[in-house]
Amino acid sequence: MKTSIIGYPRVGALRELKFASEKYFKGTGTLEQLNQTAAELRASHWKLQKAQGIDYIPSNDFSFYDGLLDTACLFNIIPERYRVLGLSPLETYFAMARGYQGEHGDVKALAMKKWFNTNYHYMTPEIEDSADIRLAGTKLFDEFNEAKQLGITTKPVLVGPFTLLKLAKFTGSKQAKDFVGALVEGYKAVLAQLNTLGAEWVQLDEPALVTDLSHEEIALFAELHSQILAAKGNVKVLVQTYFGDVRDCYQALQSLPFDGIGLDFVEGTQTLALLKQFGFQQGKVLFAGVINGKNIWKNQYKKTLSLIQEIGQHAAQVVTGPSCSLLHVPYTLKNETKLPETTKNYFAFAEEKLQELAELKAITALEYTKSSPLYIANDKLFSGSRFAGDASVQARAAALTDADFTRLPAFAEREQIQRDKFKLPLLPTTTIGSFPQTADVRANRASFKKGAISEEQYKQFNFDKIAQCIAQQEEIGLDVLVHGEYERNDMVEYFGESLDGFVFTQNAWVQSYGTRCVKPPIIWGDIRRSKPMTVEYSAYANSLTSKPVKGMLTGPVTILNWSFTREDISLKDSALQIALAIRDEVLDLEANQIEIIQIDEAALREKLPLRQSDWQSEYLSWAIPAFRLTHSGVQADTQVHTHMCYSQFSDIIRDIDAMDADVITFEASRSDLSIIDSINACGFKTEVGPGVYDIHSPRVPSVDELKQGLGRMLDKIDPAKLWVNPDCGLKTRGEAETWASLKHLIQAAQEVRATL
Ligand code: GLN
Ligand code: ZN
Repeated sequence: MKTSIIGYPRVGALRELKFASEKYFKGTGTLEQLNQTAAELRASHWKLQKAQGIDYIPSNDFSFYDGLLDTACLFNIIPERYRVLGLSPLETYFAMARGYQGEHGDVKALAMKKWFNTNYHYMTPEIEDSADIRLAGTKLFDEFNEAKQLGITTKPVLVGPFTLLKLAKFTGSKQAKDFVGALVEGYKAVLAQLNTLGAEWVQLDEPALVTDLSHEEIALFAELHSQILAAKGNVKVLVQTYFGDVRDCYQALQSLPFDGIGLDFVEGTQTLALLKQFGFQQGKVLFAGVINGKNIWKNQYKKTLSLIQEIGQHAAQVVTGPSCSLLHVPYTLKNETKLPETTKNYFAFAEEKLQELAELKAITALEYTKSSPLYIANDKLFSGSRFAGDASVQARAAALTDADFTRLPAFAEREQIQRDKFKLPLLPTTTIGSFPQTADVRANRASFKKGAISEEQYKQFNFDKIAQCIAQQEEIGLDVLVHGEYERNDMVEYFGESLDGFVFTQNAWVQSYGTRCVKPPIIWGDIRRSKPMTVEYSAYANSLTSKPVKGMLTGPVTILNWSFTREDISLKDSALQIALAIRDEVLDLEANQIEIIQIDEAALREKLPLRQSDWQSEYLSWAIPAFRLTHSGVQADTQVHTHMCYSQFSDIIRDIDAMDADVITFEASRSDLSIIDSINACGFKTEVGPGVYDIHSPRVPSVDELKQGLGRMLDKIDPAKLWVNPDCGLKTRGEAETWASLKHLIQAAQEVRATL
């Protein structure tokens, strides 16, 4: 058995690359220091893989910011506005990644988008009509040589031409087909150079092949690759797919002269069936993704070995590895000193996954696999009861009936009851929840975590902040207030820490984009709320004013989507458990006179399947009900809000309406308010607050500009249903710009209201 790695994490086990890059950006570190850190990281990753006997070790999987951006630069896909800055190649690269403001000019960064169904984000290449696509970069070759000098012959990795064209944005009148010729020449030049350097394999990543493909797209894929492969020389070409199965193009893949095809047997629900049905062409190597590259759980050898055996019956040459790049998992358990051994035993981060591959290799080399001590130890781990189960939680979830997912009375009746009760003006103003997490707020939390101040002192500070925030909101005249979320480090972590069933790591960072990493909580057992989580702060805020103050919760789908999930129960079952916990909190808030409750589903779209045909059956059919479960128990006169981030909603707008909240606020200003058209088109019943200004920038919007935005909304939305609010929470903003912007927002609402 041979083993292959698609890609390795790159920010460093202790985020060394992040810190070195940030120093370089700030000017407190030199380019040499940054390059030195990068080279050390690459060398250590290669050596780790070598030590575990990995046969196909990737290079060029390292990136200073993003692999797709690296590929774009390799082929000279650099928009004019960055080119004219006249910066060095690396500085131009960083200008595309982060924007540039300085003596050479002022440009924004390229757009950032979610990488398939992961929480990683790539930079969108922009192809202008004038683009001069050709091989222009050397990073791919430099890193191959660098590894070679360490005695390691790597398999260079780059994004393939089809995925590159599919994810790129065409800014002029030309389309993908207009660039086929140039791009083919570029990839041919890469292969020629790799031949010269003595590379044995090259890996072209084509994850776009696991999405729904049209006939034209499959033809484009075939056209690109048949031309490129004609010039491969001695280099063997592996086309690598991941994040799903290639049901639309399995046979096209087989018929092209690739030397290797990488398929995902973990997320690809149909991969095995495709292999069985259509077989695998003689002479090609099947790179089989059999270890979950996205989750943090130890592999169950018994299952994987039988999968490998089954695959082997249909393909003569099989190389095994993780299902996708290990970029999506944390580095290593070595730096986790606080997790109990009983928990840690079940985890495998990137480094431990390398060891698993080494162990699987050792086991398969034996005649009697089942007598291998490695096999026996692994089997024992999985035979015991693994998770902290909670019978009462399971029983409660099992007893749910349709009625638990249905809020009564129906929306229209509730809407009238709530209008009579709250007597809010037309176009009521509100915010999304958090107010600036200024240095004093973070310092207070840090002192408490360090044990430097008592819990009482910590809370008192938060109470004072809340009192100030309520007073200021009243003073500027907002209609529905919030407490400000000063006690929350993060909207998911805060709830994870308060619920039973989660564990937390010290260093399990995963790259989200560029230098930004996240440390998702891990769902370890059945989830239960043992005590109220938000009532004290919310009730306090509510006691300070006669205006309504929204209780503020994170919804079950978002908590689930931003955590590492269990493998032994379905996402649906975990979502229902979290929903029950949030439901209890909702009812407690209501019992404590909180009359408006917001349940954020910022990350609702996160786990939406890649293929639209799977949206309902695999996801929305439980995600939407899980949300409904959280609020179906409240009285008709309790108003339920929800909030969603990310600009793309039009394709699931009916499902969003079916969440049956009373009010929804959306992030909308960056998508040029396109949401209002979909709302208008589908007869959306829920009252809406499309964000009227962008909180991701410190810019203070003018009253006129806000009035214009509201005017555009009123063209499409019934004034009786329209709310006025910013895009998202204000926690990343400064105090001054926040209050200035909100004053403008209120003035704009008042002036528009007067015209209605
Ligand atoms: N209530 C949260 C806040 O205001 C929502 C954050 C989010 O949508 N990402 O910060
Ligand atoms: Zn948001």
